[in-house]
Amino acid sequence: MIETVAQVLIDGASEDLTFSYVVPSDLKVTPGVRVTVPLRGRNALGTVISVGEQDTSVLKYTLKPIATLVSGEAFLTPGLMKLANWISGYYLCAIESVFRTMLPKPSRGEKEKRKLAKFVKVVADADSATREEVKTRAKKQWEILEYLEKNGETLLATLSGEAGFGRASIKSLNERGLVDIFEKIVTRDPTAGIEYVESKSLTLNDEQAESLKMVEASMDSVYAGEKPVPILLYGVTGSGKTEVYLQAIERAVEMGKGAIVLVPEIALTPQTADRFKQRFAAIQDQVAILHSNLSEGERHDEWRKVLDHKARIVIGARSAIFSPIRNLGLIVVDEEHESSYKQDTVPRYQARDLAVVRAHLEKCPVVLGSATPSLESWKNVETGKYALSQMKLRIDDRNLPLIRVIDMRTEARKQKGGMAILSSKLRELVDQRLENGEQTILFLNRRGFARNILCPECGYVANCKHCATTMTVHRGEDRLICHICGFSQMPPRKCPDCSSKSIVNAGYGTEKVEEVLNKVFKSARIQRVDTDTMRKKNQLRDTLSAFKAKKIDILLGTQMIAKGLHFPNVTLVGILNSDVGLHIPDFRAGERTFQLLTQVAGRAGRGELEGEVIVQTYTPHHPAIQFGRHHDFDGFAEQELAMRRQFGHPPYLHMALITVRSVHKERADFSLKTLHARLKRSLPDDIKLTEPLPSPLERSHDQWRFQIILKSVNARVIAAHIREILKDLTFPADVIVTTDMDPYMMS
Ligand code: ADP
Ligand code: ZN
Ligand code: ZN
Repeated sequence: MIETVAQVLIDGASEDLTFSYVVPSDLKVTPGVRVTVPLRGRNALGTVISVGEQDTSVLKYTLKPIATLVSGEAFLTPGLMKLANWISGYYLCAIESVFRTMLPKPSRGEKEKRKLAKFVKVVADADSATREEVKTRAKKQWEILEYLEKNGETLLATLSGEAGFGRASIKSLNERGLVDIFEKIVTRDPTAGIEYVESKSLTLNDEQAESLKMVEASMDSVYAGEKPVPILLYGVTGSGKTEVYLQAIERAVEMGKGAIVLVPEIALTPQTADRFKQRFAAIQDQVAILHSNLSEGERHDEWRKVLDHKARIVIGARSAIFSPIRNLGLIVVDEEHESSYKQDTVPRYQARDLAVVRAHLEKCPVVLGSATPSLESWKNVETGKYALSQMKLRIDDRNLPLIRVIDMRTEARKQKGGMAILSSKLRELVDQRLENGEQTILFLNRRGFARNILCPECGYVANCKHCATTMTVHRGEDRLICHICGFSQMPPRKCPDCSSKSIVNAGYGTEKVEEVLNKVFKSARIQRVDTDTMRKKNQLRDTLSAFKAKKIDILLGTQMIAKGLHFPNVTLVGILNSDVGLHIPDFRAGERTFQLLTQVAGRAGRGELEGEVIVQTYTPHHPAIQFGRHHDFDGFAEQELAMRRQFGHPPYLHMALITVRSVHKERADFSLKTLHARLKRSLPDDIKLTEPLPSPLERSHDQWRFQIILKSVNARVIAAHIREILKDLTFPADVIVTTDMDPYMMS
C-alpha cells in the first residue's frame, strides 16, 4: 500500500533519533512542521524532516500515524533545515539541539504559547428591541455601545480601564446579546509607544558610494544565480559603514526581499536599534529587533512577525542568524570580529561563519563589516575567498583621535603608595574637558571593587570554593563574588589562614574607580555603566540618553560602552588598564587587545571636535598597543598573522578543543587519557594532536577540567575523526566530554 510517510526527528534525545510515521490524510504535513507522535507508549514532540510516498506493505511492522500537529505551518524554513544539518556536521552536535536553538521556547511545546487577550465588539445583527431598551433604560451601557461603534473592537482591559466603563455594564450588554466578548492573539511589541521619525538616506561620500556599488553588484549577480562572494567592508570607526548597510537593505527590501543584520549583543544598544527603526519608520512594523533584554514572550512575538512575513528586516544578536526569513536578500554582520558571535554552549556555533554558510545555502549576498577585521576574515581576503571594500576616511574627513600611551610602571613609581588608577596626564585632560563642557568616556574591562583580597603576611588569596579562580570584591553588596560561577560569600575581616588583620584589596574594578573619580573630580557628574548598575530594563537606554543630553560628564564603564555608541561631544576616551586581556593564556589575546583599543578609541572625536585617547598600560611595547596607537591594522595583522602561521594557530589551521570534566579529578583525567589514546591510534596524517593537559581554568563549578586540542587545515577532517572515535567510547556517568570547533575560549 502506498502511503504518505514522514520522517520525524524526536526532541530531546542526546543523539538524533528519526522515525517514520504515516501522515493521516486530514493533516497537512510539510518539512519543518512540528508534530507529536506516539513513541514507546507516550506522545513525543518532534520535527518533520521529510515527507514522501512509500510502499508500506513491504515493511515487517506497521507504521503508526502522526498524532497531532503543533503548528499549521512549518516553523523551520527549508533554508534553516539545511543550515541545521550543516551545523550538526561541522560543530559535532545533534541536529535536534540546533532546531532547539532555532526555535523560541514558547513555540517548542505541544501547543505554541501565544498571548491571548479578551476583546469586546458590537454584535452586528443584535435584536433591535433590546437595543432600544438599553438606549432608554441603561444610559451607561448605551455609552459603551456608542464607544464601541465609534472605536471598533476594543480590549476588554482598555474598556474597563482607560475608557472608564464598569465591568458589570459590559457583562450585562454581553448577556443581552448586544456585545461579544472573545479571545484573540495579541502581539507584544517591545517598541510600542515609541514614535520613530523617518530618517532620510544620506548622500554618500565617494568611499561609501564605492562600497555600496560593490554590495549592489553582488546583489545583482547573486540574485541572477551566481555564487555569493562575501564582502569584507573594512572601514575605520566613524567611516559610515552603517549608512552603507542601511542603503543596501533598502535596495533589498525594494526588490521584495528580506535582510538580517547581526550586531554583537553589547553593541545592540538602543542607539543602534533606533537607527534602523528610524530609517525604516514608514515600514516600522516590518523591522524586528531581537536582543537579550526582551522577555521570552516579546522575543517569540518578534520571531512570529518574521515567520508570518510581517517583518522582513531583522536586527539582532548572534541567534538572529536563525530568523525564519524565506526570501533572504542580504545578510550583514556588523563588527564581524566580535567574539560574542561565538556561542559557548551547545551548539557552539559562530554566527558570523554561519552568516557566510547561510548566504551560500540560500543564495544571498553577505557583508561583513569591521574597523578591525578578524584575522580569519583578513586571511580570506588575502586568499581571494572574500572581496574587500575599504573605507579609510572618517565622515567629513574628521581625524582619527590622537592616541597617547601612558606607561603605568613609571606612574606607579611617581604616585608612591596606593594604586595608580589615574595617571596625572589623564587627570589633567579630564579636568580640561570638565572646564570646556566636553564629555569623557573611561573604560575598564573589569567590574566590581577589587580583583581580589590577599594577605600580605602569609600570601593568602581569596579563591572561589568551586573554581580555580579568585573572588572579586563587590563593595556595594559587601560580598566576594566569583565571576565564573556566581558563588558569593562575606569578605573575611581578617586572614582566614594566619588571622592577620592587614588583609588588603588587590587590583581594582569599576566600582573602585567610581569611588576614586568621585573624590578626584568633585563637581563632575559621573555615571558607572556595568552589569551591576544596569540591571533594570531601559536603564541603559535612559543613561545613554542622559549622556547624550549632556547631563553626565564622565561615563565610566565596561565593554557595555565600548561599541557602537556615537556621541559627538565626547572628546576624551581613557582606557584605564589596557593590559587586562593580555595575560590570559589565549592565542587571540593580542588581537582582542588591539580590537578593544581601536573600538574604544573610536568613540572619541565623532563630532566637530577633535578626539583624544589615553591608553594606560604596564606593557607599552606590546605590539597590540603599539600598532593600536598608530591606528595601524594592516601592520598589526601582518605581524600577528606571521606569528599565527609560525605556531600553527588559526586562521592557518582549524582547531577543535576537547574538554573532559568531572567532579572527580582522576576520572576526568583518566577519561581524557583514554580518549587521547584512541584519537592517537588512528590519527589521520593531516591532524595534529596535543598531549592531554589540565585546562588553564583547572576547576570550575566544582568540576575538574582537562583538555586536548586537535588541529588541521580542514575542520571537517577533525570533526569526522572525533565523531568516529566518540561513537564507540563510553564514559562514566559523571564525566562530561565537550567538543568545541573553532573555539574562542581556550580555558
Ligand atoms: P561606523 O559604523 O563606520 O563607525 P557610522 O555609520 O556610525 O560609522 O557613521 C558615523 C556618523 O556619520 C553617523 O552619525 C552617521 O549618521 C554619519 N554619516 C554616515 N554617513 C554619512 C554621510 N554620507 N553624510 C553625512 N553623515 C554621515
Ligand atoms: Zn594571612
Ligand atoms: Zn566559582
